[in-house]
Amino acid sequence: LEAKEEFSHKTRAMDVMRPRKSDPPLTVITQDTMTVEDVETIVTSTTYSGYPVVVSRTSQRLVGFVLRRDLIISIENARKKQDGIVSTSIICFTDYCPPLPPSSPSVLKLRSILDLSPFTVTDETPMEIVVDIFRKLGLRQCLVTHNGKLLGIITKKDVLKHIAQMANQDPDSILFN
Ligand code: ADP
Repeated sequence: LEAKEEFSHKTRAMDVMRPRKSDPPLTVITQDTMTVEDVETIVTSTTYSGYPVVVSRTSQRLVGFVLRRDLIISIENARKKQDGIVSTSIICFTDYCPPLPPSSPSVLKLRSILDLSPFTVTDETPMEIVVDIFRKLGLRQCLVTHNGKLLGIITKKDVLKHIAQMANQDPDSILFN
């Protein structure tokens, strides 16, 4: 039992989350400063299933999580059916959208597709606990924070890969069986 405890506390969320140190930063969407075109570029240039929404890039404070497919559908619909939505329209995930000059195009409000309470753990959380949470809550992804700032993401596949790696390194371990 002791050995198990020791083993389980070795890896923490920070060791499994993406991005790795050498990777480009996490792809995030800001809550009220990106245009339709900015977000379209993000969804076409990446294949991630979802994107954290933050207050601003500098604050990295988490607002929520938005699924790629919901973004694509909502933008497509708005472009077709909503008057005044163009490439330069600001996308707004907040309750109250910032006032813009009268000449600016209509704002696209997407609060309804935002998951306002995505599951988060801190970077210090032992992976044993993260694995348990994924199993018990049936999570698809979990965000990782440090002092309230968004650091990374762990997907279900990342967890499965981690479990496989651990099993290889330590075949006698019963932790993840
Ligand atoms: P899956 O892990 O099922 O392939 P994704 O396609 O969403 O799911 O993620 C692929 C990889 O990219 C995973 O390792 C994940 O941790 C990472 N990832 C997911 N979302 C983002 C994001 N918004 N920015 C950077 N990396 C991400």
